[in-house]
Amino acid sequence: MELRLYNTLTKEKEVFQPLDPARVRMYVCGPTVYDFAHIGNARPVIVFDVLYRLLRHLYPGEGRVKYVRNITDVDDKINARAAEEYPKLPLNEAIRLVTEKTEKQFHDDVDALGCLRPDVEPRATEHINEMRELIDRLVKAGFAYVEQEHALFEVGKMSDYGKLARRSLDEMEAGARVEVAPYKRNPMDFVLWKPSKPGEPAWPSPSGIKTPGRPGWHIECSAMSWKHLGETFDIHGGGIDLVFPHHENEIAQSRCAFHSPVMAKTWMHNGFLQVEGEKMSKSLGNFITLRQLLNDWPGEVIRFNMLRTHYRQPIDWTVKALEESEKTLGRWYEAATQNIGDKTTIDPEFIEALEDDLNTPKAIARLHSLYSEIKGPASGKHQIDLKQALRGSARAIGLLNLTYEQWLTRDGAKIIDSEKVEGLIDARLAARKSKDFAESDRIRDELKAMGVVIKDNKDGTTTWEIAR
Ligand code: AMP
Ligand code: ZN
Repeated sequence: MELRLYNTLTKEKEVFQPLDPARVRMYVCGPTVYDFAHIGNARPVIVFDVLYRLLRHLYPGEGRVKYVRNITDVDDKINARAAEEYPKLPLNEAIRLVTEKTEKQFHDDVDALGCLRPDVEPRATEHINEMRELIDRLVKAGFAYVEQEHALFEVGKMSDYGKLARRSLDEMEAGARVEVAPYKRNPMDFVLWKPSKPGEPAWPSPSGIKTPGRPGWHIECSAMSWKHLGETFDIHGGGIDLVFPHHENEIAQSRCAFHSPVMAKTWMHNGFLQVEGEKMSKSLGNFITLRQLLNDWPGEVIRFNMLRTHYRQPIDWTVKALEESEKTLGRWYEAATQNIGDKTTIDPEFIEALEDDLNTPKAIARLHSLYSEIKGPASGKHQIDLKQALRGSARAIGLLNLTYEQWLTRDGAKIIDSEKVEGLIDARLAARKSKDFAESDRIRDELKAMGVVIKDNKDGTTTWEIAR
């Protein structure tokens, strides 16, 4: 099979053909570093990590796939947080402390999710020259104008502005609650550069603007993708909320600055994540940071749980699903990581599922069937093959990397001696038979204290499971 990806630009699943097969290039919008990343932010990080791994599998060779994910370290929210957190420090100093700390937290969190680091993680503050250069080009070519110390992109100058979001300028104007500013020719014109407020970081401005200022958000990504991937590249990704205005405006800037028909060939967007059926928000009290979640669950469980839903579907994040994910991984660890040697293989059907627009639920279904085969009547050599395929395929998407021992002793794992449990269950049964209910209750409590929940079935048997 060949890789097919859904392209937001064409609304179709297309065969992926890199512009240059010797250099496959992907850009994903990264975090704005002012606070802990939340579980929604983890979705694009995990999804595009899986795509990066798949591309590296399909286009093997050192340096053949280049993945760039930026760090937005210029933003109003950062300035506000810095002033709040370090009121006594000069703002520049406070901003540096906030962005450095948050960047480190972000890296620690996504490392714990088993995500590979991108090849380049450019910071906005280190690409101000490129931003200025782009703005100068846009003004010179007549796509942008300078007014009251701002530089603005004039959307009316671009004939197909709105193509990604599939909205015409008229529709946008009718529906938008954009600020009508005196320096804008059209309310939809967007900021490329603006004056800094007193005390805020400021850089020399593009031509025609005298006072130092700072870039708008969209121009940051046009500049960083240009610097590290070129004028046109293969894949651009991010969450669905970024389609408009962020990605629409990135496209406008880059295409008009370079006079090119496309910025990225394929635009990919992950669906949104909600928590226990509700939109995640601070006011609802269901706002979960990755750090909190990682205190309770292994990163691998979080990663696996995320991948059980197709990346374009909305995902409902629940404790129940996390519990199921942990159980499944436990079964796979038990079945496929013991006594198989170092060799692993990747199952072709598994890869085919991923090649179908990153269909991770289908790929995971394949892992389930490999597991069933291992547990089925297959024997000897064939069973080892199945185990190696289950482990190798899971590893290809960043799962089953631990040894069985490491899995059993992972943080938060309940280590249960199953022989002892079975012995206690038998003793309890004997106590019940001799009508010693005090003893049978005592044993039940002892099991409970061990974290084991028992269930007496109608057919007279007793089953048990580990409580979380
Ligand atoms: P932000 O820091 O808000 O710019 O978000 C960083 C990335 O996380 C972007 O790609 C967003 O689209 C994505 N994102 C934010 N919230 C969610 C969510 N609830 N579900 C999925 N993706 C999200
Ligand atoms: Zn971006």
